Amino acid sequence: MSEYQLRNPATGQTEATYDAFTDEQIIDAIGRADSAYRSWRTTPLDERVAALARVGELYRDRADRLAEIIAREMGKPVRQGLGEIALSADIYTYYADNAAEFLKDEELSVASGGSAVVRTAPLGALLGIMPWNYPYYQVARFAAPNLALGNTILLKHAPNCPESALAIEGIFRDAGLPADAYINIFASVPQVADIIADPRVQGVSLTGSERAGRSVGEIAGRHLKKAVLELGGSDPLLVLDTDNLDGVVSQSVAGRLSNAGQACNSPKRFIVVDELYDEFVEKVTAKFQRVEPGDPIDANTRFGPLSSERAVSDLLELIDDAREKGATIRAGGERYDREGSWMQPTVVTDITPDMRLYREEAFGPVATVYRVPDVDAAVELANDSPFGLGAAVFTGDEQLADDVADRLDAGMIAINGTGGTAPDLPFGGVKMSGIGRELGRFGIDEFANKKLVRRT
Ligand code: NAP
Repeated sequence: MSEYQLRNPATGQTEATYDAFTDEQIIDAIGRADSAYRSWRTTPLDERVAALARVGELYRDRADRLAEIIAREMGKPVRQGLGEIALSADIYTYYADNAAEFLKDEELSVASGGSAVVRTAPLGALLGIMPWNYPYYQVARFAAPNLALGNTILLKHAPNCPESALAIEGIFRDAGLPADAYINIFASVPQVADIIADPRVQGVSLTGSERAGRSVGEIAGRHLKKAVLELGGSDPLLVLDTDNLDGVVSQSVAGRLSNAGQACNSPKRFIVVDELYDEFVEKVTAKFQRVEPGDPIDANTRFGPLSSERAVSDLLELIDDAREKGATIRAGGERYDREGSWMQPTVVTDITPDMRLYREEAFGPVATVYRVPDVDAAVELANDSPFGLGAAVFTGDEQLADDVADRLDAGMIAINGTGGTAPDLPFGGVKMSGIGRELGRFGIDEFANKKLVRRT
């Protein structure tokens, strides 16, 4: 059973434990989410979006407290936590402002006569399963469009985020949504399977690892339920040419080390053409070595602990495997010698395909750097990955950037910048990075009944 515990990764201390839900509580929650759907779907859209606008305001009002919670739960420095909370607030506001436009009937031209529209209607109660790395933002991506549409939500958060999970539920309640339109559940993995199987639940959205995605996708398939899967990434960052290498290095390092490297679409594999490689490696290494770890609660801290002991040991296994097989560790490679789950920023070069780091996602502050002879080799290496979430391309040649964007197997391409995310831009990947899109106008269509209404 998943243990819902606040274990502070900066100190290693367990600060609070929460009881997991019993099976009876889960069944009760499903029933409440289902009946809330029946009234929420017929609540006028104006009222639904007004409630979502208030959710955005409450995130802004409570930002300091919310940032402090995740600093203690998963070690995010408060200044980065405040950024995540502002983004989450903006996502609720974005759907509050735009849902009426997104949900307008779409008129079709009917060759056989008469008229027809496609109406975007809700489906019912949905299950959301979320990870710990952006505890507020991940929920916002799923909850905002679906609540605007008229679906209701059962939310199983990561077991190390119980207090942010409860804080989110409290915001929905205080914003005036019906109590059961959004229900937090401290559920176990076996209970998740039962929830997906329940006929009252119409779909499931998981953000998490490929392992969890396979399991949830399989269960959803067996029960013919719609699933959106936002999974891992090992995003390439291609450096093809530049007249400002320092600028490219700064963006690469910032992208890799934000949130202590624990972001699905962080650039994880730096692929650099031969003539820029040595200088790029030298500059990135120097920046990684200068990083100062700090208490996540301190407003000046930029680099905190990893989320858990497991996160550190998983990374060390990947690094040790590469080291044993001949890779060069240019910076870091070890944990910091202090209490808690602290990992040094690490730069690895001379990676070969037999190393786990070549194919697997390094979910922490580890940059791998590859030397390639030319653009074709860069694209080939970038695509030689089971993942396909995002990719970044640095070049001054606009035509080349467009060509490379076409050739990269990824859901999101950033040109002369690193990915990031915004309320109005779709987010999602291909290959083992998942199925479906969140955010923007695409995010509201995933759990919608695109209903044909035809007049003859
Ligand atoms: P995780 O271990 O897969 O956990 C994510 C969530 O899934 C947790 O709530 C977890 O709960 C649940 N879960 C795990 N196995 C499950 C199963 N078999 N059935 C049902 N639920 C299950 O992932 P994580 O380590 O927390 O998060 C990191 C991963 O998420 C990385 O791979 C990262 O790239 C990915 N991610 C992707 C995106 C994206 O948008 N593409 C965004 C952020 C993160 P329990 O712990 O209780 O099992």
